[in-house]
Amino acid sequence: MTIAVDFDGTIVEHRYPEIGEEIPLAIHTLLQLQADHHVLILWTVRRGRLLQEAIDYCRRRGLEFYAVNANYPGEPAADLATDDDGQKAEVSPSCRKITADVYIDDRSLGGLPDWGIIYELIHGHHSLAGYYRHLYTHKPASKPSLWKRLLGGK
Ligand SMILES: [Mg+2]
Repeated sequence: MTIAVDFDGTIVEHRYPEIGEEIPLAIHTLLQLQADHHVLILWTVRRGRLLQEAIDYCRRRGLEFYAVNANYPGEPAADLATDDDGQKAEVSPSCRKITADVYIDDRSLGGLPDWGIIYELIHGHHSLAGYYRHLYTHKPASKPSLWKRLLGGK
């Protein structure tokens, strides 16, 4: 899975342009997700020196991203994108959305879950609603597989 992850307010407490304290378990969880073969992309509004400080902060803790504000390493900072009609349209590089399966961002609706929950959601392929349903009702977070249903499992 490709995971785009924000920096300020997500990996560290929001102190932009300074770097806040690490949010508990953020780096540890991201390293575990990499060990689980997920691809991590740093996706942040930081640019230039401030971006490099964020990259260095993570690097000193053993975390290297596959790409930074790009879909793959070395991707040119595009200022043109193809719109739905196949036409080229100008886009602001600072507002560019990365192609990912999951986005981890403190500004997402509902806020940032704690990193232990983030890991469980990704590892277990749960939605946040499914995770809480599972937690509070002890019902399966997702429908059982076809094979389990055919073989009489619950
Ligand atoms: Mg943020």
